[in-house]
Amino acid sequence: MRFAADCNVGKLARWLRALGYDAVYHPRIADGELVRLALAEGRVVLTRDRDLTRRRVVVSGLLRAVLLEDDQVRLQLRQVVRELQLRPERALSRCLECNLELELRDAAEVADRVPPYVRATQSSYSECPGCGRIYWAGTHWQHMHEVMAGLA
Ligand SMILES: [Zn+2]
Repeated sequence: MRFAADCNVGKLARWLRALGYDAVYHPRIADGELVRLALAEGRVVLTRDRDLTRRRVVVSGLLRAVLLEDDQVRLQLRQVVRELQLRPERALSRCLECNLELELRDAAEVADRVPPYVRATQSSYSECPGCGRIYWAGTHWQHMHEVMAGLA
């Protein structure tokens, strides 16, 4: 399942990426354009905008859209996971910034690009082929795991 996040739910897009889902997000996109993009790419629209979900293309069932009930990203994430019955199995496999799939790297390959304290404690890394960010199982991921555990 792939997603297109409306302007007002960028944080949710990042969280879905953290769960391993392909979630596009453009901070400034017109409703019509978002709908076209989602239809063309077979994406589920995520929005806080009730009017968008009243469009004929959504009401007719041609385009799936989730109207988010809450402003808090954790509650939004919980709603999406519940409504779409997501079973995230590829968590932490995608860049939070670029939405690209990460590639595994050996410790030696990234040694000169991570802080010494990380090098000393972590052995597995991934790199984003787009922006070159290095990811590892640090405190950030730990926090995300905790939030995800709270989704069940
Ligand atoms: Zn990236």
